[in-house]
Amino acid sequence: MSKEQLAHFAIILGSLKNDLMADIERTVHTMQDEQTVFADPNDRASQETDMALELRNRDRERKLVKKIEQTIDRIKADDYGFCDKCGIEIGIQRLEARPTATLCIDCKTLEELREKQTAKYTPSGAPTKRPVLRLAFCFTTQAGGLHHPTRLP
Ligand SMILES: [Zn+2]
Repeated sequence: MSKEQLAHFAIILGSLKNDLMADIERTVHTMQDEQTVFADPNDRASQETDMALELRNRDRERKLVKKIEQTIDRIKADDYGFCDKCGIEIGIQRLEARPTATLCIDCKTLEELREKQTAKYTPSGAPTKRPVLRLAFCFTTQAGGLHHPTRLP
């Protein structure tokens, strides 16, 4: 990749990161503004759900920011645009669509296929074996060998 191309992606990634950071900032402010305590428990519950959703979104955004930062580091280290698996150039077209891509389209497709395959064969899909109960056996041995019920004369 040429110096100009690297600079081009550095700009794209930089503005992507800024947008995300601004978004995160906004969410924090909205959440602080919405610290109202509702009297109705239903309102409170839905407020809590909203909060949980926001937090999860924010978590995802933070991860994305981290990934963007790592990608910018790779540009600086002149290691940008190569597939992590096979080492070939990822290709400008794919990077334009997905500037943080670390795999070429072939490796990505293979990985997705493999993920689908493993998802298909997870233990949850297999029939579960129930443990066999041997309660009756326990009753006879607990008394120390054979247990004869005492008979009254
Ligand atoms: Zn590859």
